[in-house]
Amino acid sequence: MKKTAEIVVIGGGVIGTSIAYFLSKRWKKVVLVERDDLASGSSGACDIDIILQSKNPGIHLKLAMASAEIYKNLPEELDFDIEYENTGGMILIEDEEQLNVMKEFVKKQRAVGLQVDLLDFKEATKLQKGLAPHLVGATYSPQDGHVNPLRLCIGFARAAAKRGAEICLGTAVTNIKTENGRVKSVVTNRGEIETEIVVNAAGVFTPMICEMVGMTAPIKPHRGQIIVTEPVPKFVMGAVLCAKYIVAKYNPKLLEGSDDLETRLGVGLSLSQTRNGNILIGGCREFVGYNRSTTHEAFVTILKHATRLVPALKEIHAIRSFAGLRPYTPDGLPLLGPVEGIEGFIMAAGHEGDGIALSPVTGRIISDIILDGKTFIDIAPLSPGRFGK
Ligand SMILES: Cc1cc2nc3c(=O)[nH]c(=O)nc-3n(C[C@H](O)[C@H](O)[C@H](O)COP(=O)(O)OP(=O)(O)OC[C@H]3O[C@@H](n4cnc5c(N)ncnc54)[C@H](O)[C@@H]3O)c2cc1C
Repeated sequence: MKKTAEIVVIGGGVIGTSIAYFLSKRWKKVVLVERDDLASGSSGACDIDIILQSKNPGIHLKLAMASAEIYKNLPEELDFDIEYENTGGMILIEDEEQLNVMKEFVKKQRAVGLQVDLLDFKEATKLQKGLAPHLVGATYSPQDGHVNPLRLCIGFARAAAKRGAEICLGTAVTNIKTENGRVKSVVTNRGEIETEIVVNAAGVFTPMICEMVGMTAPIKPHRGQIIVTEPVPKFVMGAVLCAKYIVAKYNPKLLEGSDDLETRLGVGLSLSQTRNGNILIGGCREFVGYNRSTTHEAFVTILKHATRLVPALKEIHAIRSFAGLRPYTPDGLPLLGPVEGIEGFIMAAGHEGDGIALSPVTGRIISDIILDGKTFIDIAPLSPGRFGK
């Protein structure tokens, strides 16, 4: 017998599970299909940061700030320990050139309402121990935080299931049937689900789902590698990045073709510490297709860069590394909302290095759009059609 659903969500990462949760909060009959397991994609191979101050002032930062507001009550709402903590965060600044860029960045962020300050070196060392003496300072925002992304996916999915959502793991979408420009059903390896609405939250695999309805999506995998240390007592103050990370994130073209390995690999510091005490040291940004291998080259380069900024890390043992794929889009913003010409086909993908931070607000926006036809923020700049068909 064919299943039916009011809404089918494709993808069991932070984005798909958040959408399933926000829809089921309003008692919609949702079926979430995930071909592997919850958090088996990018959401299970990433850092833990909810960083606001790394976002471009404008819609990007507005989304992050709205998401941070939702995070505050999320553990209680989900009735699940997602290891959320409002830790604060810093961006380390190495030289005068970076300082000038960051001054401008901070000014614009403050204008949008973010609490963020420039600190000199002395002030920065009060917040984060073990910093290199050549640093000129840092930015600091008390609004940054942490969450455990794996527990977040489980928390969203459990809470959605409690409200009637069906979570189908090991279920791969193989086709989407349309009739007269409208979604009719989703075909999976475990049978067909009749539905009029399907949400594409397949992360870096979004283009393959789009092809099923004759659409292309400019989402590319952007590999990141992370090194994990042995568990140690509290060392990292919260979320710690460096100004070079901001360049690698927003201007990857500047890094292409460089002879310098650190620059070519898009290396920028990201430092955080899990509740268990393991330090996560990142990272890099590489276009290498769907290759999720780790490389010795990146391992060495990331550690050299990290210990140049925070030499005290040399005393801590690295125990392993992993790689994940960020769903990159050309303008760094996700594709959110309905697709023109394919009624019932909704996009929710392309969150690059921000999907953990933006997952709550994405769930809220997509559920508003599906159920009310409008949401609290102008999402025109996120339109799936902005790059063409
Ligand atoms: C190294 C690294 C560090 C990062 N650090 C941070 C950070 O600190 N903070 C932050 O905010 N973001 C961070 N990110 C980004 C974040 O991880 C992603 O933006 C986010 O996980 C994307 O979530 P998603 O749900 O869109 O994709 P995914 O988690 O990849 O979920 C998509 C799911 O769709 C499923 N799927 C695909 N095709 C099909 C199909 N045909 N049928 C059924 N299911 C299918 C996949 O199996 C997958 O589970 C980082 C990313 C990386 C790689």
